[in-house]
Amino acid sequence: MPTDIKSLTQEELQAQFQAWGQPTYRAAQLLEWLYARRVVDWDAMTNLPRALRDRLRTEFTLHTLALVRKQGATDATQKFLWRLPDHALIESVLIPANPALYGEPSDRHTLCVSTQVGCAYGCEFCASGLDGWKRNLGVEEIVEQVVAVERWNDREQSKVHSPQSIVGGEAITQDAARYLPESRTQTTDEDEALDPASRIPHPATPPRLVNNLVIMGMGEPLANYDPLLKALRLLNAPWGGGIGARKITISTSGLAPQIRKLAEEPLQVRLAISLHGATDATRNRLMPVNRKYPLSELIRACECYLEKKGRMLTFEYLLIAGVNDGLAQVEPLAALARRLKAKVNLIPYNPVDGLPWQRPTDAAQEAFLAALEKRKVPATLRREKGSDIAAACGQLRLKTEHELAAST
Ligand code: SAH
Ligand code: SF4
Repeated sequence: MPTDIKSLTQEELQAQFQAWGQPTYRAAQLLEWLYARRVVDWDAMTNLPRALRDRLRTEFTLHTLALVRKQGATDATQKFLWRLPDHALIESVLIPANPALYGEPSDRHTLCVSTQVGCAYGCEFCASGLDGWKRNLGVEEIVEQVVAVERWNDREQSKVHSPQSIVGGEAITQDAARYLPESRTQTTDEDEALDPASRIPHPATPPRLVNNLVIMGMGEPLANYDPLLKALRLLNAPWGGGIGARKITISTSGLAPQIRKLAEEPLQVRLAISLHGATDATRNRLMPVNRKYPLSELIRACECYLEKKGRMLTFEYLLIAGVNDGLAQVEPLAALARRLKAKVNLIPYNPVDGLPWQRPTDAAQEAFLAALEKRKVPATLRREKGSDIAAACGQLRLKTEHELAAST
């Protein structure tokens, strides 16, 4: 299998170019085409010599995600269903900043990305695990979810603005030359071999949309550890996705050994634990992973994370009617939150077709929140309607898979 170009770090690219006798600034030029301009084919990289483009084309793939389906309005939560090169389907969810959560109205967006096709962990309430685990996503498939959403946004913006503004490098504004990247001002002998098109200045680099990343889509991120960590380094790098490490949150169902491993990583990402129960009895009922790593083990791993990383833990707590929303769960939950200095995110369950679980009434949700607050635990309750779609990652893919199966 050839390597995909979006799975390489800047250092790896530089080493490759050096081995080919290319100047190292070519790596910066290539990365700009991939992450800032988000082009989808080699021929668009007009400041790279044609021979180099041809060599890249033979040695690497440049895969992009194909948008199969999109749900949601442009100014609200939107769900993207992507087809991978092997036809597997995955989801990403784009969530506009909620002023109530961030304290500021803004154009900030959070993207929720998937890390696996399906999930092997089989939590009883979750759509992602219903059809089991198919495969892990590669580095580039994680990275490309962000790039593809940015690319989609570029296209949306170009519909809104004048046809001259951002149209795949073809329509050029008068003052575009002001925005030329520095690397393009360097000339070498090889520039003689460039396309005539490369002498036309490129339009301004399109702005970025995604500034927060949550690894809460389909799959268990820590079960795809190495590709995920590499993808996050690429998405965090200034020459790559440019997303601050503290703006990245990994959510896990509780893989204790991998949490300890993550604590040793230099990358300062946030960690969210999908707790959903504050006692082994409740967690065992909902999450098979708890039989392998019971609460005591999970909490010790979290303590280790806390020790190494400081205050960066969140507990995700789904509220499911009659299962874990009883006030008897509040005291043990508060005790765990205090012990780990964790914030609690209460998430009203989003019912899944074919599963019996229900969301508690608004009053029951508010009562649970109030009981936590009374115990001085920092907690939020997701009330807004839009995030229903976000909370139910895995459902659009499941629905589409089932529709496709029914039609054949
Ligand atoms: N596997 C990881 C990350 C993906 S799941 C994990 O379990 O943390 C992301 C979050 O969505 C988890 O907190 C999960 O419990 C929650 N979730 C799954 N199905 C849901 C549903 N139907 N309604 C609301 N949240 C759901
Ligand atoms: Fe997998 Fe997370 Fe869904 Fe559990 S909640 S089945 S770990 S994706």
